[in-house]
Amino acid sequence: MINELAKIMPDIHFSPGERFSWSPAEHKITYTPEQIEADGRYALLHETGHAILGHSNYTTDVELLKMEVAAWEKAKELAKTLGLKISEEHIQQCLDSYRDWLYRRSSCPTCGTNTLQNDSTNDYRCFNCHTEWEVSPSRFCRAYRTRKTETEFVLL
Ligand SMILES: [Zn+2]
Ligand SMILES: [Zn+2]
Repeated sequence: MINELAKIMPDIHFSPGERFSWSPAEHKITYTPEQIEADGRYALLHETGHAILGHSNYTTDVELLKMEVAAWEKAKELAKTLGLKISEEHIQQCLDSYRDWLYRRSSCPTCGTNTLQNDSTNDYRCFNCHTEWEVSPSRFCRAYRTRKTETEFVLL
């Protein structure tokens, strides 16, 4: 499968590593070889989706979420080209985990109100109680791995 993808995307380097990721700076997709036969196939197609779409930077969490959705759409097309099918349930689970992640980051730690991110500072400010907090920098596919217990914000 790596060989087939490399044929379609000759400009991208595929390199084995500890987790699935797309590095725009290095033009490199990292994959976990031992997971390729299981759900890792889907993750690999998803990362290739980011690569094909040329995803490189985003300023807000919402923008990142849109890119994750787009990468899954691309992954579906790519799967069809390769004669594979990505389980719709798997995609929905991933999208749900991104949405949960966004919800946790954007909920006010003081009063729970859901707030929009400031797109110039990337901080959040609650319009209800005026608490301000900053979130850890978002990364592609981070949501997929993030555990619910992980702290996502620092109060300002
Ligand atoms: Zn609040
Ligand atoms: Zn992704």
